[in-house]
Amino acid sequence: MHLSTGDMFREVKKSDKVIGKLLASGQLVPDEIVVNMVKNRLTKDDVKKGFLLDGFPRTVKQAEELDAMLKVENIKIDVVFFIDVRFEEAVKRIVGRRVCSCGASYHVTMLPPKEVNRCDLCDKELVQRNDDKEDIVRDRLSVYEKQTKPLIKYYKKSGSLIGIDGLNSESEVFERISKYIKVVV
Ligand SMILES: [Zn+2]
Repeated sequence: MHLSTGDMFREVKKSDKVIGKLLASGQLVPDEIVVNMVKNRLTKDDVKKGFLLDGFPRTVKQAEELDAMLKVENIKIDVVFFIDVRFEEAVKRIVGRRVCSCGASYHVTMLPPKEVNRCDLCDKELVQRNDDKEDIVRDRLSVYEKQTKPLIKYYKKSGSLIGIDGLNSESEVFERISKYIKVVV
């Protein structure tokens, strides 16, 4: 089961102004709120066969809380993927992203739609997410450097870290990650 905290936030921010504001400015949502959200999500039946956390944990504090909650359930984290992409390359990739309300995702140069700014699947107009705008991306990335990067050390210590060169092609990155994931249906 793919659990994306980004998707969860985008869902709640429609009703929660505080979270909406934080996301719009590129700041991290406070640890306590994220941790509770993930905690609730992990009680659902659909994660019993395994899950992949995407976008969480983002701070050492969140990682410690995650360890504590998994320990209670007797679950062990198998692997942690660190997809390494240089700062400027990350800016280029995020700023060029365009999304459709149907869930499809494109990139202006790396994965352009057939017709400019139109979704291939449903023909709706594509948009740039607000937190994908360049100045906000730069803020997001400096928050990442300060608060998220220390996690590399944290998971290296626990022996679960798998480093992946994010400058490789999409299919190479996918293949590398797939080696560690068993799909259970
Ligand atoms: Zn679409």
